Amino acid sequence: MEHELKIYNSLSRQKEPFEPLHEGYVGLYVCGPTVYSDVHLGNCRTFVSFDVIYRYLTYLGYKVRYVRNITDVGHLEGDTDSDAEDKISKKARLEQLEPMELVQRHTRSFHHILGMLNTLSPSIEPTATGHIVEQIQMVQEILDNGYAYVKNGSVYFNTPKFIKDHGVYGKLSGKRVDDLLSETRDDLKNQDEKNDPSDFAIWIKADERHLMRWPSPWSVGFPGWHLECSAMSTKYLGKQFDIHGGGMDLQFPHHENEIAQNYGACGCMPVRYWMHGNMLLLNGKKMSKTPDPETGKSNSITPVELFSGENEIFSKPYSPMVVRFFMLQSHYRSTLDLTDDALLAAEKGFRRLMEANKALQGMASAGKGQEGPLGKEIQKLIGQIHEEMNDDFNTPRALAVLFDLVTKINSLKDGHLPMDQISEETFNRLKHTFRNFIYDIFGLKDELEAGAEGNGLAEGLMQLIIDIRQQARASKDWATSDKIRDALKELDIVLKDSKEGTSWVKGQ
Ligand SMILES: [Zn+2]
Repeated sequence: MEHELKIYNSLSRQKEPFEPLHEGYVGLYVCGPTVYSDVHLGNCRTFVSFDVIYRYLTYLGYKVRYVRNITDVGHLEGDTDSDAEDKISKKARLEQLEPMELVQRHTRSFHHILGMLNTLSPSIEPTATGHIVEQIQMVQEILDNGYAYVKNGSVYFNTPKFIKDHGVYGKLSGKRVDDLLSETRDDLKNQDEKNDPSDFAIWIKADERHLMRWPSPWSVGFPGWHLECSAMSTKYLGKQFDIHGGGMDLQFPHHENEIAQNYGACGCMPVRYWMHGNMLLLNGKKMSKTPDPETGKSNSITPVELFSGENEIFSKPYSPMVVRFFMLQSHYRSTLDLTDDALLAAEKGFRRLMEANKALQGMASAGKGQEGPLGKEIQKLIGQIHEEMNDDFNTPRALAVLFDLVTKINSLKDGHLPMDQISEETFNRLKHTFRNFIYDIFGLKDELEAGAEGNGLAEGLMQLIIDIRQQARASKDWATSDKIRDALKELDIVLKDSKEGTSWVKGQ
């Protein structure tokens, strides 16, 4: 495949040329949400980052199998709490709901919010509860290979033995073996049952109050949280696959334990490229629902509060597309700070980009076939956008180059740059590049069309209104023409007349 894509591999801590296991195909696994509450805005950022990665790999011509799981059992509350309880089971008990009621409710809301952010659905979205058989099978394989032991109906991964035999534990998180061995692992129900504090549960015996439990050879219980990703990635992508992604906070212990389980079951490193997205901050601080002891306010906002403007943090509502554009303005491996100023700037930038694209798509090439210096410069910039994306999916730098082109497009439109210095081929390539990057790769869409489910209804209606206004003007019916303009203005839609005709934009 003709490209020079490089991916930063968390495992080797360097950028590596991307070579898939099977030419032309990519297996991509991303850890999905735990559906006991609505999706966190920080998680939305991770899913938007991997959505762009998925879209770009597809654009490069790969056939991508994208697997993103739904955690609906096994994720425990608390870290070292000896009385840790499954998050879903606990919330369902507190809200007096059937666990699956809770799971369905939050899965639906998760899909709804990601839909607003225009992320594509993964190819497969497996649930942990739907793969209990596969998980039990994997526990058995790990037991058979001698990397786990049974205690009172629970099964624990034998971390010291795994470290001694393979030495790959700690490689991903960069933790020293001594520290790993002295540290107490999370996801424990019965701390004192383990042979070593660094061991972790892969099957947990359930007590009576636990709502979600399944029979197994060891006890009626439920799988450890880390196990589902190991079992489901193996089932759908094979024992070894190309890319595994998730938020930085999952690197340890979740991903480290995934590697240990896969290795313990199959005897090989499961993943070739590990990718981790960085945190989303709110006004310079980590988001947290716990109220600040001094102010009594929590530093947290939900996606819906951000989109609707119903919050005390921001001056106005920000649409999902503005938020998505804002997320693309930073590299997925950098922290991103959500502030009012940054969102206001993103809103302006987003509109400027969409407006330039609209103008570009409506422009015609001078069609002389001559390539002048301007045409050559445009070709170079188009190449540069691809280079930036090939450099570990650098969306902020690719966007910056796109904005260099926006300046050129606006000058062409105003007649400040000569159109006849661009060959028809280059001009068409420019149009394609804008469409490809804005819609297909960055996943942005016009907000009005977004409201009409992207079916072009808004565009069609606007054209009808513009035509009626045109007729009114032609017959000197100024009252109707003004009425249309004023009514649209009320809706924040501005008409722009030029010699090429009338165009419209939302908001100014
Ligand atoms: Zn996972």
